[in-house]
Amino acid sequence: MDYQSILERIAQDVGPLVGSGTPAEYIPALAAVDPGRFGMAIADLDGKVHGVGDWERPFSTQSVTKVFALALALSLGGDDLWERVGREPSGNPFNSLVQLEYENGIPRNPFINAGALVVTDRLLTLTGDASSEVLEFLRQESGNPELGFDPQVAESEHGHGDRNAALAHFMASYGNIANPVPALLDHYFWQCSIEMNCADLARAARFLARHGLRADGGRLLTRSEAKQINAVMLTCGTYDAAGEFAYRVGLPGKSGVGGGIVAVVPGRCTLCVWSPGLDARGNSVAGVAALDRFTTLTGLSVF
Ligand code: GLN
Repeated sequence: MDYQSILERIAQDVGPLVGSGTPAEYIPALAAVDPGRFGMAIADLDGKVHGVGDWERPFSTQSVTKVFALALALSLGGDDLWERVGREPSGNPFNSLVQLEYENGIPRNPFINAGALVVTDRLLTLTGDASSEVLEFLRQESGNPELGFDPQVAESEHGHGDRNAALAHFMASYGNIANPVPALLDHYFWQCSIEMNCADLARAARFLARHGLRADGGRLLTRSEAKQINAVMLTCGTYDAAGEFAYRVGLPGKSGVGGGIVAVVPGRCTLCVWSPGLDARGNSVAGVAALDRFTTLTGLSVF
């Protein structure tokens, strides 16, 4: 398949949408990003990457890192994690508190903020340094040792982190957080602040298309665990728009409020698209449209 011409066609088709929506405003460091950016990359299973537009320009990965943290927590700690976090779509905004009270402090899924805080808590217990563990994993899988945190974004999240702090304290009151909340928040914010470009992210996500195999050929997850993570991405990876995303795109995907989305074609390739303008649910407007075009043009969806 000629991925390069497909990417160029997609960039042209979604051009009119680039700049619509609004960059995340609740984290000041993200509000300053140029909304006119658009980049997209496809990595094949061996890591050969094609890209278009701003595909080599770093952006704030934000919630896209939640999928890597989950993979590490499952790989290192096993299935016990699922006693502390569910696998159902929430139908509520990514930072919502409301279901936690009815469900005894057990978040609906690992890709909303509450669930990701539990995953990071687990990773912190397992490794002693959750955010560095995620960063190191991303460096290895992307093959880019230069990847790093953006301290300005991390600080900005800290300064505007009351909602995440509330989520963490609330779950701690049910005994579902093992570490001191301030330490957990610190790791969560640093993890969200990791900067990457579309090429790095598409490469780093390949273990999901390679049925659990890492870039070096070693096994991170069993075939079945890789399937499970892809399934949770499909049903929960784009928050309360996951149904619409599955309908339009038909691929496992994980978005972040930095405007990035990673998507997986199991057994075939991985994609990453970035454009900072978000819709009301916190997903990139041009990014979702570009992935929709990709599956429409190529027929490469999971259905
Ligand atoms: N850092 C953001 C937060 O915790 C991540 C949310 C997201 O990307 N949806 O609020």
